[in-house]
Amino acid sequence: AVRQINSVNPATGDVVARFDPHSPAGIDAALEHASVAAGQWRSMPVPARAEHLKRAAALLRAERDRLAALITEEMGKPIAEAEAEIDKSAWCCEYYATKGPEQLLHQPVATGAARSHIAFDPLGLVLAVMPWNYPLWQVFRFAPPALLSGNGIVLKHASNVPRCALAIADIWNRAGCPSELFTTLLVGPDAVPDLIADPRIHALTLTGSTEVGSTVAAMAARHLKPQVLELGGSDPFIVLADADIPAAAAAAVSARMLNTGQSCISAKRFIVEEAVAEEFTDAFAAGVAALTVGDPFRRDVRIGPLARSSLRDDLVDQVQRSTAAGARIVTGGTVLDGPGYFYVPAVLDQVTPTMAVAAEETFGPVAAVVSAKDCTQAVEIANTTEFGLGAALWTTDLERADRLIPGIEAGAVFVNGIVASDPRLPFGGIKRSGYGRELGVFGLRQFTNVKSVWIG
Ligand code: NDP
Repeated sequence: AVRQINSVNPATGDVVARFDPHSPAGIDAALEHASVAAGQWRSMPVPARAEHLKRAAALLRAERDRLAALITEEMGKPIAEAEAEIDKSAWCCEYYATKGPEQLLHQPVATGAARSHIAFDPLGLVLAVMPWNYPLWQVFRFAPPALLSGNGIVLKHASNVPRCALAIADIWNRAGCPSELFTTLLVGPDAVPDLIADPRIHALTLTGSTEVGSTVAAMAARHLKPQVLELGGSDPFIVLADADIPAAAAAAVSARMLNTGQSCISAKRFIVEEAVAEEFTDAFAAGVAALTVGDPFRRDVRIGPLARSSLRDDLVDQVQRSTAAGARIVTGGTVLDGPGYFYVPAVLDQVTPTMAVAAEETFGPVAAVVSAKDCTQAVEIANTTEFGLGAALWTTDLERADRLIPGIEAGAVFVNGIVASDPRLPFGGIKRSGYGRELGVFGLRQFTNVKSVWIG
């Protein structure tokens, strides 16, 4: 079992706080409380549940500075991005508080019955295994719809963000939800198998690596618990010759480098038609080289530390294997000396689909530029991956875009824009990026029992 859960500032390497993990008896008591709370919550009318979401949003907005600083201190995100994360989390609560009740209404269906309809009942308690990269947003992408539809939540957050994990539970408690309806357990991965097996847990959502997703999915399958898996990605960013190249290159910098490159929906492979490859790569690399690396609390800094030293080690190894196979570093790609897990953002070109930076998920500020001879080959290369989360397509020919979209293997396609999650649109992947959907109306109904009611 995990002995201690530490909050480490990745910009300095200092341990900021230490926590004792929950004991088995503590976990049992927490599950018992959460079950009682979930029982009270499910009998509350949906509009009353929505009021709690509004209060959570108000708390997030009122405590934005404190919460953003907590994120930046625990995982190193530049402070303005941490603030944006709080705003988005609040928006998601407000969105579901406003739009959700209508989406959960009984849906009448005409049959031979006197009356028949579809009802959306809660499932019960959902276990959420979450990652550190958006320590609030990852949870707030899932929690407002899951709560609104009447479920309780048990959070096992990533071990490097315990203070964020506790802060989130505190917000839901102060929003007036039944005590412990949202429960944070400070536990390591070793506690997950027993939690999944526990009869008080009815469903599972996991955001994290594909490897962990497949292990956990097998456990949930053994107990026949429904699950949503949001796993890794290696999103293509396709640039066709007729694209607005300066705009595409500027967007590419954000698409790859936001959150210091640590996002499942970061653009990771830049697949560029040969005719514009040099122009695009030059502009993109210049944009990346201009990003300031350093203390994430400084407002001019765009690239903070990686969240953990092992993430930086993985990146160094992936770049090394790729250059050994013939890729060229156009800019960056060095480790900064001194404390903190800093890495100078890199653009590599002359990348082929089998090289590490293209075939594997790169979880940090490293971009791989691959050239393609035409748009057909660009889409083929885009699909040459085990992942299928998001994809971006840059072209001024929107009719051609419409023809290409059905052939792109991804859960989302953004044309002339950066792939981003949005409470109004479903979010999720195919292939080894996972299954199930969060957000939008699909996310709201994901953790419901879609109940057919027939009254003769
Ligand atoms: P993990 O997939 O290891 O962690 C995600 C969550 O799963 C954490 O809460 C973690 O807990 C938990 N977990 C880890 N191992 C197990 C297990 N065997 N059983 C049950 N739960 C487990 O991601 P990492 O943080 O280690 O990052 C590694 C890689 O994952 C990244 O380099 C990236 O490629 C990918 N990743 C993708 C994300 C995405 O948004 N799709 C987000 C984060 C990572 P604990 O922290 O206690 O180990």
